[in-house]
Amino acid sequence: MTDTNNISIVTELYGNRGLCWNAVDGFQSFILIQKQTDIVIGDRVICNELVSDECTIEKIVAQDNSLKKMSANGRVQNIANNVTNAIMVLSSQPKPNFYLLDKLILIAELNACKVNIVINKCDLDHASLKDSLNYYEHLGYPVTIVSAKNDINKDDLLSILKGESSLLMGQSGVGKSTLINWLLQEETIKTNMLSQKNQRGRHTTTTTKLHIMYDDTYLFDTPGMENPYPNISDKHQIQEGFREMVSNRNECKYRDCLHINEPKCSVKDSMLSNESSERRHSHYVKIFETIS
Ligand code: GDP
Ligand code: ZN
Repeated sequence: MTDTNNISIVTELYGNRGLCWNAVDGFQSFILIQKQTDIVIGDRVICNELVSDECTIEKIVAQDNSLKKMSANGRVQNIANNVTNAIMVLSSQPKPNFYLLDKLILIAELNACKVNIVINKCDLDHASLKDSLNYYEHLGYPVTIVSAKNDINKDDLLSILKGESSLLMGQSGVGKSTLINWLLQEETIKTNMLSQKNQRGRHTTTTTKLHIMYDDTYLFDTPGMENPYPNISDKHQIQEGFREMVSNRNECKYRDCLHINEPKCSVKDSMLSNESSERRHSHYVKIFETIS
């Protein structure tokens, strides 16, 4: 059995050095030994004793999940481990990308993360976006409405983050960085030694970083979450991102129906009967076609 008191969480990585944090000792610098190159932000680790202000990592605790993205050169990269709460950020400007939303929901579901939807920029007209998201609310994904820039409904957002390790996802320009800066104005945010030493800005987002908001509440700061990667080995897994398929898939003619163009497919019939689910079905088919 692992003694949870000794467990720290990795908050930053720079080459073979990094920072980890636990509620008792605060932040600690560590240096990696050669074979520990697969360590990821959010990993839980057990550290050895400090030697001149630096420790080594004795053990990486098995992770619950691992979120991945596709880099520019087509390689799959781990970006964050042990995420419990995926926050899908949308705004009325730029124009909402519902395909990206459905793909992100799939990734969150495959990783057993909670899903929360946030409409940012509520100072702009968001009535039609709110309407489009009613369907998602019915599926069980709560929608929270805020404005980072105008400081509206911060408590609502804090309440969905409380006790979770959250990652903000969504297309570029919806206000993810602005939201993080806004959230990190809280007085309780722990200052981060290594960032200060390196004189980096508090949230330069060139690499992933984990902010400790409260002892039990963490916020991933992750650049480039526009190109997430669903780690799928079997095409049937895509249905995990589409909750509405689960309820009536037993009524399809074929037991292993994929709900694409099989005859007597009750999932497809029911999804095509409503505008929102019809769009979701088209995204399901699109994801299906992009996964080889
Ligand atoms: P990111 O690409 O998702 O990280 O988005 P940014 O945080 O860079 O924000 C994109 C733009 O949206 C910036 O010009 C922000 O000032 C603006 N923005 C962020 N939050 C709000 C808001 O609540 N209302 C309005 N009107 N603009 C916002
Ligand atoms: Zn079917």
